[in-house]
Amino acid sequence: MATAKLLVVLVALMAAASSSCGPWELNIRMPTARAVEDAAAGVAAPLIHALRPLVGSAGDLGRRGGVPCDSWRLAVEAYNKRDWKTVPADCEGYVGHYMLGGHYRRDSRVVVDEAIAYAEGLKLAGNGREVWVFDIDETSLSNLPYYAKHGFGTEPFNATSFNAYVLEGSALALPETQRLFDKLISLGIKPVFLTGRTENQRAITVVNLRRQGYYGWMKLLLKPVGFKGTAIGFKSGERRKLQDAGYVIVGNIGDQWSDILGAPEGARTFKLPDPMYYIG
Ligand SMILES: [Mg+2]
Repeated sequence: MATAKLLVVLVALMAAASSSCGPWELNIRMPTARAVEDAAAGVAAPLIHALRPLVGSAGDLGRRGGVPCDSWRLAVEAYNKRDWKTVPADCEGYVGHYMLGGHYRRDSRVVVDEAIAYAEGLKLAGNGREVWVFDIDETSLSNLPYYAKHGFGTEPFNATSFNAYVLEGSALALPETQRLFDKLISLGIKPVFLTGRTENQRAITVVNLRRQGYYGWMKLLLKPVGFKGTAIGFKSGERRKLQDAGYVIVGNIGDQWSDILGAPEGARTFKLPDPMYYIG
């Protein structure tokens, strides 16, 4: 009897999740055979990942998985854990729930709320020299549809398949970051994209950003093809060039510590969550 009640509750939760999903959720679906058949028949694909029905349970997932994945994630976000290659295999479910179940979006919202409050409190010179640096992947655009198909970071990074995904230009805007981007433009602060994507991905990156509603950035700075240095070295070097050209970096936001370390960091930095991969 208790089991039957539980099933009813689960079905109700799934229905509620289905009816309230927005573009973010609708665009993250697993490529099941059924989905392919439905698409061919003109039927809407079923909702996203099989993990999605456990919405809201992310806070309890460390215990649920029997491994301390919540502690692992905290160590990652606090930069106590570094140079890791993959998400622990036992934490695939945890990270999947975290990313898809609302927790990730809530954490991102807190970061962006702080960033907007800070930006609104700035006394701007009004000379058009104030800029804000934005990382792209897992900051301005989300590659979650790719990672949902690749173990949420438990699989070793595969540059070939990931670059093929990038060339689709289908990454989603992270809605929270887009809210910050638009706010900064309204305040007169110019966004600068600074990314580890390479110059040969410039055209598709511009297409992807525009498709997702990003307009009005001042610069898009990409890594030269064949660049051998570290992410921190590249990004801090580009920020130095901006500063030397007379721009004032009032803010800097990224999902990796390598986005926000290395002078000049910017007057204030903001770290978005990313438990799926590490870039040193
Ligand atoms: Mg990034």
